[in-house]
Amino acid sequence: MAKIHELSDLLANQIAAGEVIERPASVVKELVENAIDANAQQVDVVLDNAGLDLIKVIDNGDGIEEDQVPLAFVRHATSKIENRHDLFKVMTLGFRGEALPSIASVADVTLQTRTKEAENGFTYQVKGGQVIQQNPAAGRLGTIVSVRNLFYNTPARLKYLKKPQTELSLIVDVVNHLALAHPERALTLTHNGKTLVKTAGNGDLRQVLAAIYDRKTAEKMVDFAGQSEHFKVSGYLTLPEQTRASRSYLAVLVNHRFVKNFSVSNAIIKGYGSKLMVGRFPIGVVSIELDPLLVDVNVHPQKAEIRLSEQGELTDLLTKVIAERLAEENLIPDALVNL
Ligand code: ADP
Ligand code: MG
Repeated sequence: MAKIHELSDLLANQIAAGEVIERPASVVKELVENAIDANAQQVDVVLDNAGLDLIKVIDNGDGIEEDQVPLAFVRHATSKIENRHDLFKVMTLGFRGEALPSIASVADVTLQTRTKEAENGFTYQVKGGQVIQQNPAAGRLGTIVSVRNLFYNTPARLKYLKKPQTELSLIVDVVNHLALAHPERALTLTHNGKTLVKTAGNGDLRQVLAAIYDRKTAEKMVDFAGQSEHFKVSGYLTLPEQTRASRSYLAVLVNHRFVKNFSVSNAIIKGYGSKLMVGRFPIGVVSIELDPLLVDVNVHPQKAEIRLSEQGELTDLLTKVIAERLAEENLIPDALVNL
């Protein structure tokens, strides 16, 4: 047997990247989440060739102080939590301190940033995990992260990617989900010069739904809201006559984080009862808020899966609130609606 030795930082980061950075859409998710955590009001995502040639995320958030920039690329270095107590009440989207070092281990990354206190901006460039440039630069307020040559040094990962069109649609999904979870931020996504997503950032969730689907679909959705001892739920859903054959148009948010949770989406569908045909699913967004102490977001590197306490209370609440809301809708005779 070989002797035990510590892995180099680059190798350790590449191993972490294997979990966190699966594809271009993962890069977009991590960078936009960082922008949101930095209080950006406007976040613009610019792509070339489905993100394979370029992913650029421009934000007008807090920026990073010059002397902190190298730390942002160190694994497990984060400004978002300090102690184990913070881990149980995370309100930011990030906290693992893994995204930037992971991305920088499998791509060329340039970060430009300026805080409002700083006179100058700062540019920092990392290639293959090595810093190749760091200098003061004129800079706008906020942060721009540009990612080029993604997976150039991990050929297996590059080969496993789907067609650019498929990778692009996964990126659109990521941006749509972030837009639904953060209607108060203006998000845009541009691909090869064409705008694919654009939200106003005025906090109006129905307007975000109109931007993602179409105005008519969004206008016809019913809004619902309710609460129980531990949970507050609200959102917009289509009526049973407007459904899709996949549950992927039904976004579930927990404390403003998009998650995949079968029990929760089943509870929503159960609220429709027999009004929904088997294999059909509503379109819309369901937002769940609860004390962060009752949710463990640290079960999955990409944080797409979570563990909830009191899950039965939540699923009962969702089914009940949605069933009651749909029953109300049925009480209004068509003749009155058309008046
Ligand atoms: P995490 O988000 O889990 O803290 P990251 O590797 O994504 O880890 O980022 C490391 C740190 O770099 C963050 O904690 C934050 O302080 C800083 N940072 C990253 N992106 C931005 C950004 N767009 N604006 C301001 N600060 C940022
Ligand atoms: Mg992050």
